[in-house]
Amino acid sequence: MARSEQQHSGNRRIPKQARVARFIETWLGAPLHALEVILNWILVKPTRWFWRHLDRLSYKLEGTLLRKILSHTVFPFTILLALFLGFKLVENGISSLTVLGFALIPIVFGLYCAPLERLMPYSRKWLEGGNDTAVDTIMYVSGAFWSGISGLIVSALFIVGMVEALEPYGHDLWPNHWNPIVQVFLFILIKDFFRYWFHRALHEIPALWRIHAAHHSVERLYWLNGIRAHPLEIISQALWYAIPLALVQPSAEIALVAVIMQLSIGIFQHSNIDLELGWWEYVFSIGDNHRYHHYPDKGIGDSNYGGEFIIWDILFGTFHNPRDERPHDNIGIGTAPEYPMTVAGLYIAPFMPNQKDVFRTPSASSNDEIADAPNASETSLQPAE
Ligand SMILES: [Zn+2]
Ligand SMILES: [Zn+2]
Repeated sequence: MARSEQQHSGNRRIPKQARVARFIETWLGAPLHALEVILNWILVKPTRWFWRHLDRLSYKLEGTLLRKILSHTVFPFTILLALFLGFKLVENGISSLTVLGFALIPIVFGLYCAPLERLMPYSRKWLEGGNDTAVDTIMYVSGAFWSGISGLIVSALFIVGMVEALEPYGHDLWPNHWNPIVQVFLFILIKDFFRYWFHRALHEIPALWRIHAAHHSVERLYWLNGIRAHPLEIISQALWYAIPLALVQPSAEIALVAVIMQLSIGIFQHSNIDLELGWWEYVFSIGDNHRYHHYPDKGIGDSNYGGEFIIWDILFGTFHNPRDERPHDNIGIGTAPEYPMTVAGLYIAPFMPNQKDVFRTPSASSNDEIADAPNASETSLQPAE
């Protein structure tokens, strides 16, 4: 069942025939590549030994009552805990300590998701992926950096001023007297309406798909790579989000708890834990919903766009989650199996010409249209369970 490291290609580079891009990736990306190698040695390889010991335990856990209980309770427990901790953090107003706690909560949830992935994996094939953990760690940190930069760009474009000017009106509209938990979910729901259309545009408009392809380049789903995104996607989404932020103005406390909730739900979008989610998958964009979203065949992958909720997909007809089926684990970009996996390669790829030819397998016919990518169902591998 295990694939070779080369197949997983956590370090796959821009193909040689794209000489200019490859040159830029090599020389401008050298510091990033050095960082990938260092992280691989100090983070990925040493922890692999520990993880493989957990694998043995996971076989013992199969079919037990404990595993069944965990598979039903991990998600609701995490969400309730995030909600509880979120409100605890803002109980006495927002301070620098609150912000620190805010940064730590999703990391803590991630760290307990990682062993759970090993103990009860959805796909054993997804447990390891070359040095993609090193790449994803850098993408996580660089994503936070670009989020900060996007805040500055939003300020520079006077969008912050616009939001502040509209605040009194938005504040009047916002139901401050409602239960705080309802306010949190209402805020996420409104924001997610904007995420839904932004994400749908990223898939349906070819120029935008180039930017979003960095996210879909992943060949396995695990807790850390949900945040893999090109800086242009991060910045343009921040600009787009200025609209709901201008329209609705909950208190800063509600907005902060909402962000914690978004991050906590987000971990379950990519986590490789075999959970019994039941009706939660008709409310949130998690589990199988997002596994279908990463199908290499765009006919299926162009679905389930919700960031946190799946409700907008159900309403707008893009929900895909057949009841009698489990998604396979052969994911990626069907039309671009040679998409680069280095940090520099991911940054450069959207700007490269002739992508249809460069990122295809050498055997693929260059005359085929991009929509004629091999259908995932022909080559799929079933999950280990
Ligand atoms: Zn997508
Ligand atoms: Zn994803």
